[in-house]
Amino acid sequence: MIQYQFTNKRVLVTGASRGIGANILQSFVRAGAIGLLHYWDDPKGENRHDAQQLVETLKISYSASLPNAQNGSTNSEPICHLISADVRNAPEVEGMMKQIQSLVGGIDILVNNAGILRDRTLRKLSIEDWHDVMETNLTGVFHCCKYAQDLLAEGGRIINIASIAGITPFHGQSNYGAAKAGVIAFTKVLAKELARRKITANAIAPGVIQTTMLGELKPEVMQDYIRQIPLARLGKPEDVSNAVLFLASEESNYITGQVLPITGGWLA
Ligand code: NAP
Repeated sequence: MIQYQFTNKRVLVTGASRGIGANILQSFVRAGAIGLLHYWDDPKGENRHDAQQLVETLKISYSASLPNAQNGSTNSEPICHLISADVRNAPEVEGMMKQIQSLVGGIDILVNNAGILRDRTLRKLSIEDWHDVMETNLTGVFHCCKYAQDLLAEGGRIINIASIAGITPFHGQSNYGAAKAGVIAFTKVLAKELARRKITANAIAPGVIQTTMLGELKPEVMQDYIRQIPLARLGKPEDVSNAVLFLASEESNYITGQVLPITGGWLA
């Protein structure tokens, strides 16, 4: 496994209380980064609870890894700040970025991961399903980039978690596919506009990754997916994290405006 070092890099990951986002955030913190763990403060407080649990887990695994001094960090505890906002809400996102500025002074790496899925055929797709997905998955990315841009350090990174659906959407994904295709186009524009500050912007297009977003997949549906994937398995959150860390590393500083599918060869 490649040991990247992100010592004291300030990394904001949206939607990081669970799923792919949680895995990305943990991978950065274990590599010495200062984590900015964004979650959506739902009325029941479940995401806050998950986010706090994640920090506790990180503390245990981090101190266990310290004797090896693999991450180059001088910290004896992981540094991970919890921050909340609804990415659909521009004033909340603006407030979150001001909070980050006063906490850590800026951002080195922004990972836009928060997203939702509401698959329905056009006949069944409600106006609400359309707007919820567009506002979370596309407008949310715009809000985070817009209000983070002045905080991003020269040479910084933006990594947007799009989807293979943004390239080849499926039946029932008109909202999701359109939003993720929008994220891909938006990322390419960011790459051009931010290049003068040596900030790179890339998108990742995962295929089928095992998280709660998939819901309770029936075994036969899962087998059908696996049959179509050349590498013959569903993706894991760490398959996505590994690509994110590469795109955030120094080694990728000439890669910008690109989309990287993480699909096990599916739809290649
Ligand atoms: P997940 O487990 O459902 O996590 C999504 C995260 O986004 C949750 O923490 C969620 O918070 C947060 N979120 C949703 N709406 C939000 C809002 N309005 N404001 C702030 N945060 C919000 O899903 P995942 O599978 O890890 O997906 C992560 C990303 O990967 C998404 O962008 C998704 O589209 C993309 N992706 C996933 C797959 C896959 O197969 N899993 C494939 C391709 C792309 P709540 O807990 O409140 O919902």
